[in-house]
Amino acid sequence: MTDIRLAAPAPGWSRAADVVVVGSGVAGLTTALRCAAGGARVVVVTKARLDDGSTRWAQGGIAAALGDGDTPRQHLDDTLVAGAGLCDESAVRLLVTEGPDAVRRLIATGARFDADPLTGAILLTREGGHHRRRIAHAGGDATGAEVSRALVDAVRAAGIETVENALVLDLLTDAAGRTAGVTLHVMGEGARDGVGAVHAPAVVLATGGMGQVFSATTNPAVSTGDGVALALRAGAEVSDLEFVQFHPTVMWLGAGAEGQQPLVSEAVRGEGAHLVDADGVRFMLGQHELAELAPRDIVAKAITRRMRETGTEHMYLDARHFGAAMWEHRFPTILAACRAHGIDPVTEPVPVSPAAHYASGGVRTDERGHTTVPGLYACGETACTGVHGANRLASNSLLEGLVYAERIAEDVLAGRGARAPGEPVAPAAPADPLPGPADRAVLQRLMTSGAGVLRDAAGLATAADGLRELRERAREAARHGTGPEPCVDTWETANLLLVAETLVTCARTRKETRGCHWREDYPERDDERWHRHLVVTLTPERTPDVRATPGTAFPPVSTVVTAAPAAEYPVENRS
Ligand SMILES: Cc1cc2nc3c(=O)[nH]c(=O)nc-3n(C[C@H](O)[C@H](O)[C@H](O)COP(=O)(O)OP(=O)(O)OC[C@H]3O[C@@H](n4cnc5c(N)ncnc54)[C@H](O)[C@@H]3O)c2cc1C
Repeated sequence: MTDIRLAAPAPGWSRAADVVVVGSGVAGLTTALRCAAGGARVVVVTKARLDDGSTRWAQGGIAAALGDGDTPRQHLDDTLVAGAGLCDESAVRLLVTEGPDAVRRLIATGARFDADPLTGAILLTREGGHHRRRIAHAGGDATGAEVSRALVDAVRAAGIETVENALVLDLLTDAAGRTAGVTLHVMGEGARDGVGAVHAPAVVLATGGMGQVFSATTNPAVSTGDGVALALRAGAEVSDLEFVQFHPTVMWLGAGAEGQQPLVSEAVRGEGAHLVDADGVRFMLGQHELAELAPRDIVAKAITRRMRETGTEHMYLDARHFGAAMWEHRFPTILAACRAHGIDPVTEPVPVSPAAHYASGGVRTDERGHTTVPGLYACGETACTGVHGANRLASNSLLEGLVYAERIAEDVLAGRGARAPGEPVAPAAPADPLPGPADRAVLQRLMTSGAGVLRDAAGLATAADGLRELRERAREAARHGTGPEPCVDTWETANLLLVAETLVTCARTRKETRGCHWREDYPERDDERWHRHLVVTLTPERTPDVRATPGTAFPPVSTVVTAAPAAEYPVENRS
């Protein structure tokens, strides 16, 4: 089995736990709370503060069939349509049937959702791709902040051990290849400083998304794909990496804007905002029966097409007809963000364009969150449970974090005590040379121009060549002893590079257009060849090895995917 690690000093300290949870978003904190409630010794390790991560930024809400007349079946149908034929239906069924109670348990944990002041019933809104009002929201458009607040408070109240400002580097495994803990680097001074280890027989990766692999994203700075990169180095399978959702309506801040950009939630369109071009033409009419509320990929493509046709860098979201009172009451966060950037949505349309938003793929798991490495789980955005298929339905991700965290906790608790962590063994392979910190911006630009909303063979090949050059440069520098020092910046850049290489390899392999993967040179969906997932492992030579599942259902994680080898789907100049 592949076991590659980042170049890092040997651990100088260690401690033990039943389970290490890596990440403190909805997925990590829910797992930690439920594991601790069952009596497990939990350590939560998180890269920045407990509330740093995408969860805090979620605006629209959580989708669940809570409304009168709505049913899990209808939620399932909408999810399958958005997933463009690639959802694992049994994983979706679990999501939608267990979702309503998982939201109720979140409320019992302390989250306060917007409710009718007279009846107390939770208010539900609509978002793109949903045929019903089924999105529960909090603080108007500050759902994630409330979810995060409630979970952080509960974790503190439960006395769960947390290690903040600590970057998890790699998985530790024992001689049998089973999970034995993690190595981590604690930033700053304290009782535990520098590189150390937490030994545990179970590790839950809940490290969130990988938006920072592109130059413009809605994701916060911590979203550098660390969990996916760690899993690949540890020999786990990752899947569906080519399906990156670009949010259609991200505030356009100028041609050179980079990093996290403010999102204008789909809920604004849900409440009736229109997408218009510079001449005020509503270009979504006639494109889809749901017009502005079509699934995200349709809207992102339509905006990108219109931008091309009109030679502009953005379109506009027009919600002047809401009036000041509705803006202030329903969308206070977005209103404040717009005004902070000199745009008043009450009196003018908001300039918007698509930016990287959500990773539908990730570390392949089964219905209990197991990855293909024994003892290693993945949850939330870093996982690929199969519920999102080729495109995530809006507001299903917080729900996925909740539902699958609870399933993982049950599994961890059921296996607790069955095995002490094995003795970690040193990897046979030498450490991976680290790229320089300046390479981060280079790779982000390569990814945005070559593997962004619009993809084709030439653009993807250019991105692959550029990434290969960065990899070679890192190896060359290591050979000459001139490589960069191991530090948070270089470790994160190494993770971004590995994730970018894998994503580009998958995007080159999938020669069709499906969901949020749009190949201009293969504009049609091709069910005959591509009604299947791409699964990647890292070879001992450190190149992505792509295979395909026989169909849309994932085989059990105990089964390494061997069907339909990538050779059947050749990649030009595979990197
Ligand atoms: C602007 C925005 C709006 C959104 N709106 C919605 C919405 O309305 N509804 C919805 O369902 N979804 C929404 N999403 C998506 C949703 O917020 C995320 O998919 C979800 O919150 C992910 O939760 P998570 O727990 O998996 O990851 P996160 O909340 O991103 O948490 C990841 C955690 O892992 C930590 N971490 C990362 N790497 C390491 C490492 N190496 N070592 C230690 N810790 C690490 C991070 O610091 C962080 O604590 C939105 C996302 C964004 C960015």
